Formats: sequence, C-alpha cells, structure tokens
Amino acid sequence: MADYRSSSVHNHSNLCDGKSSLGDMAYASWQAGVQTLGFSGHSHTPCDLEYCMSPGRTAQYKAEIARLKKQYAGKMDILCGLEWDEFSDTEPSWYDYWIGSVHYIQGPKTGKYYEIDWRPQDLLECLQEEFEGNGLAMAKHYFDHVAQVAAKQPTILGHFDLIKKLNCTGSFFDEESAEYKEVALDALRRAFEDCKVLEINTGGAYRGYRNDFYPALFLLEEWKKLGGQVVITGDAHDTKSILWGFEEAAAYAKQAGFTHSVILTAKGFEEAEL
Ligand SMILES: [Zn+2]
Ligand SMILES: [Zn+2]
Repeated sequence: MADYRSSSVHNHSNLCDGKSSLGDMAYASWQAGVQTLGFSGHSHTPCDLEYCMSPGRTAQYKAEIARLKKQYAGKMDILCGLEWDEFSDTEPSWYDYWIGSVHYIQGPKTGKYYEIDWRPQDLLECLQEEFEGNGLAMAKHYFDHVAQVAAKQPTILGHFDLIKKLNCTGSFFDEESAEYKEVALDALRRAFEDCKVLEINTGGAYRGYRNDFYPALFLLEEWKKLGGQVVITGDAHDTKSILWGFEEAAAYAKQAGFTHSVILTAKGFEEAEL
C-alpha cells in the first residue's frame, strides 16, 4: 500500500491567499518526497473577492500549473485542482479534481454574505443579525449547506466542521452539546449519500486557531461507521505546511477506527496504510 505522506492535495499559493508561489510549493513538495502534489486554489467567488482567485489569476494558475506539470514530469505528478466554494461561479469539472467547501453563510434574513473563518467580528455579526444570537441555529445553517455541497459530488469534501474554526473558546456555540453533535451528524449522514471521501484537515491547527483537526472525533467515528474514506490534507498556505501534522492526523484516524486512508494520485484514489 502507498504511503499517506506521498500525496498532498489541499494546497494554496500566492495566486489566492497563500504565501508562496506555485513554483516554490512544487519545489518544497518534491524535496519533502511528495509523489503527487495537488493544487487547490480558491475558486472565483463573486460574493467576496478577498481571498479567491480573480479570472486573470485563474488563467495564470492554470498556465503555471501546466508548465510545472511538464517541469516535474517523471519526478512528481502535479494535479490542477480547485477548492470550490459553494458561492463560486467557476465550473469545477474542468479541473483534475475539486474539494467542495463552505466558507460563507448567506444570511437568511438579509441575504448578506458573512465569511465564517477569518474575522471573529464577521461571525459575531452573522450570529446577531441573522440568527438572533442562537449559535446552534447558525451551526445548523452551515452544516445544511455543507450537505448541499456534498450533493454536488466533489472529489473530496472539505473541512467538514469549519464553522468551529473561530469557536475555540466556545463563545459561539457549545461543541460538546448533544444538540450541536446531532446537527453535525445529521448533515454528515446526508453528505455520505453523495460523497465518500472526507478530508482530515490539519490547517486550523497549523495556523493556531485550533488544537484539533477538522472534523471532530465524533464525526470521524461516524464517518467510519458509515463506510466513508478519509484523505489527510494540510490546507497548506505556505511551503512548511504541505505535509504538516500528517502523522498526528494518521494517529487520529486510527483512533476513529480507520486502518487506512486514501491518497489522490494521477490515476485516482489509492489506499494508504496508516
Ligand atoms: Zn477552505
Ligand atoms: Zn483550503
């Protein structure tokens, strides 16, 4: 079986909100022994142009990855993927693969878009303006939309419980409550009907937002019971995090009962021993 550290497919560059160029990310991956590198730039998302790729940058992204594919031919496979946001106007089927993600809540009252994973102030405004301070209702809204993204059958379902990113002190909702868990589990079961590969994403921990990974253990255990598969990703925004936390994530997957994960390669998914 393959090595789960031989493939890394959730990676950003400075063409969206990453810090490093595509070329630097490729070189660092090759040096780290990666055999399949997947780029997953943020898809153009008109509701908020802060961190996604503009149409011009999307063209640059495709061209530069095509060039890197040739440069690394025979040394490392490079995939041109996309992290597709629910509110994106980009067609994801053009890409080698795509990660389906929810980064915004569109307020059910005002229609306004709130970024959920960046400024605590934005999430607080969403909570107060749209959900009358009811954090559980806000979480339910988020998870329902994740299930809707899963229904579009992405290659990988991205950071399932990203809504917890800014909640490490529990100020928005209680992650340990039975109600919260049921809301998340219900969406996970619906998601499984359409998408079988969930990522274990170490990015929130690397960047210091969380002490844990996405998804929480109770969700990962349920995913195992359902018969789902997991892929370990770093959600890397710099060259240091391409494989960051992969060993801990493997141990975490084992804790949830998994004996193997899957890795994405140029030929599709392959099993990897944990
Ligand atoms: Zn994301
Ligand atoms: Zn990402």
